[in-house]
Amino acid sequence: MKPTPTRRAAALLAAGLLLALPAQAQFLELLKNLAPTAAGLPPKPAEAAASAPLNTLATANSKSPEAAARKAKIESELAPDRQCKRPQEKFNIAEKLIEYGGSEATLRLERLLASDFKYDNLSPEDREMLRYVAQTTVWLPVELESKLGSAFDLVSPRGDDALTPVEQDAFKEVQAQLDKFRALTTDFPAEAKLRMNPELADGAFAKFGGLIQVSRNMLQTMSERPAGADLLLAHELAHVYKRHAVKRMQFELLSSRDGWELAKKLLQRAQRGASFDPIRDGWFTITVVPQLISFARELQLNFSSEQELEADACAAHWLKAAGQNPTLAWNEFRDSMAASGGNEQGYARTHPPTADREANFIIKVTAKPAPPPRPVKPEPAPVKGKAAPKPPGKG
Ligand SMILES: [Zn+2]
Repeated sequence: MKPTPTRRAAALLAAGLLLALPAQAQFLELLKNLAPTAAGLPPKPAEAAASAPLNTLATANSKSPEAAARKAKIESELAPDRQCKRPQEKFNIAEKLIEYGGSEATLRLERLLASDFKYDNLSPEDREMLRYVAQTTVWLPVELESKLGSAFDLVSPRGDDALTPVEQDAFKEVQAQLDKFRALTTDFPAEAKLRMNPELADGAFAKFGGLIQVSRNMLQTMSERPAGADLLLAHELAHVYKRHAVKRMQFELLSSRDGWELAKKLLQRAQRGASFDPIRDGWFTITVVPQLISFARELQLNFSSEQELEADACAAHWLKAAGQNPTLAWNEFRDSMAASGGNEQGYARTHPPTADREANFIIKVTAKPAPPPRPVKPEPAPVKGKAAPKPPGKG
């Protein structure tokens, strides 16, 4: 992103403000904001944190009914949402930590803060806790995620200004269909920004901030199976609705030493709240967003199988709400996957096996009696250099 003179001036001003605060002071501020204020919590959390053993997180060890209920709640929060409910994730990490593990979880985070979040200091319980936080909270306001999407768009290959007339018509249809689905939901978190990425082998992919990239192959073949194409679009839009890209990135940031340094910056940013601050967030956009982009690009960010099943559930929901036949859409979608043949770099490689998705999808759209759910394989995630086990295709 090229800074304009105004942006550069704002950035310098923001830099001055930020540099005036030493890093330690920022951490102390962060600590202060995270300190529990609810009644019944320890009055001096920092002291308690210093002596708190690291393996006493209520969720992990306690056998009390409260702990069991809490554990069940956590598991249900992490399970795929089959109802396509409006995302309820919180911005306030401290609040979420209390829900996760009471004051002990807060103390645990304070301990991490006290050790300056050294990645190597993280215990398995710490990682479990932070991964929970990554999936149930968002650390970037929508405005910042949109900037992330725009920056991602800038560095992505783009071919939608060189389409044939037939492809142009298809592109317009895709945009119209996306708008139609988007209008079915309230509080949709972003505009759907449509692009054709000439490097995609097939299908369509949701990125950050409402950015949806479609392949040329999809534009050229969608007239053969229009209902299947609609399903694919609804599925990608659902990834945007659920803010899957940001959550996945948060998760990946917490899962690697390289990402951890960046995660700290996002966590610090999150302490400033959910509203966008033009100066400080302008500076954040210039300094941190490019690092996030290169992290995400290197990682080839893929969604988890839970997120994929959630997106399918939303697609079924929206197709029905739009008066379309979800079963017909699924059949066309499955046929187009089969028809497009194998492609190791394509859509099928980044998605769960079709049979698992079908079981999930059919349960969602079938009226009673629903068939028993097929067990879903844990992570169908692609392994580098290994072909996808199922016949790939386009989506
Ligand atoms: Zn997907």
